[in-house]
Amino acid sequence: FALLKIICFFLNQKTDEGHCSKVAAHYNELQECGLAVRNQSRIVYLRNFNNWIKSVLIGEYLEQVKQKNRQSISVLDLGCGKGGDLLKWKKGQINKLVCVDIADISVEQCIQRYGDMKSRCYSNEHLFAAEFVRADCTKELLAEKYQDPDIMFDICSCQFVYHYSFETLQQADTMLKNACDRLRPGGYFIGTTPNAYELVKRLEASETNSFGNELYSVTFQKKGEYPLFGCQYDFNLEGVVNVPEFLVYFPLFEEMAKKHKMKLILKMTFAEFFKEKVQNSEHKMLLKKMKSLEQYPSAENSGSPGINKEDYVHAEDY
Ligand code: SAM
Repeated sequence: FALLKIICFFLNQKTDEGHCSKVAAHYNELQECGLAVRNQSRIVYLRNFNNWIKSVLIGEYLEQVKQKNRQSISVLDLGCGKGGDLLKWKKGQINKLVCVDIADISVEQCIQRYGDMKSRCYSNEHLFAAEFVRADCTKELLAEKYQDPDIMFDICSCQFVYHYSFETLQQADTMLKNACDRLRPGGYFIGTTPNAYELVKRLEASETNSFGNELYSVTFQKKGEYPLFGCQYDFNLEGVVNVPEFLVYFPLFEEMAKKHKMKLILKMTFAEFFKEKVQNSEHKMLLKKMKSLEQYPSAENSGSPGINKEDYVHAEDY
């Protein structure tokens, strides 16, 4: 990354529409195939593992907020997709959720899912109020779109989304502004994003511009040049995702976040996070329930995780 500031300057001059419309079109085209089909997919363990990571992360930061004696918790789900985390917010007993995504069909599915969840609630059961916004968070300012113009969030959660913004400095900064602008003092911006170092390491070890296995592939346009913004790669996961993404150079991201008065408090790889959090018996139990272990047998004691069929609930239900 040493020589790349100059390239960054030129890339920042991009004024064309960029890849956002491609990303939106891609996510809009993804079919909501239902639980049964999702569970048959060969990547089900990976999806469940990713969901476990999100569940633990969200649960831990909600706990931090609750320890500050907040009476009413508001959350911004930036790039909410079809609402895969709705049940996590329900479980966390938040009071208000604002869901935002660039893909209108995903937002509609998210609304539908929230409606279904509401209709399944018992009359005495608590469910957060929700608001849904379709917006390109890299180009539009969300503050102008909230129903309550004074809303403040305790948490902004940005799960597997932020890397789409690293096409240009302006886009990355706008998304960051959207994430942090309406956080209360002491609020948290939490998220998950691909590890740029690992991607580049694997690319450099490959003889071509591509690496992967029978389930996934990552293809770069070029090897050896990694501009700070717009460093595009195509990610394909068993036909599930095949859209342009961008490397997020973390030290730069951290510096940019400082401008928005944010201080980095945690940065971990999934492997490090797993190793630490699986020590906690509640998290470990959740991991078993979410059926994520077959993929990670060495992380548990070897052998069967001992899950009964009836214990199996899809990860997105957590
Ligand atoms: N956060 C959800 C989850 O964890 O299940 C969805 C993650 S999905 C991998 C990425 C999501 O980011 C998609 O729903 C996509 O439409 C959304 N996205 C990508 N670029 C965006 C942008 N510029 N503004 C808002 N949402 C965006």
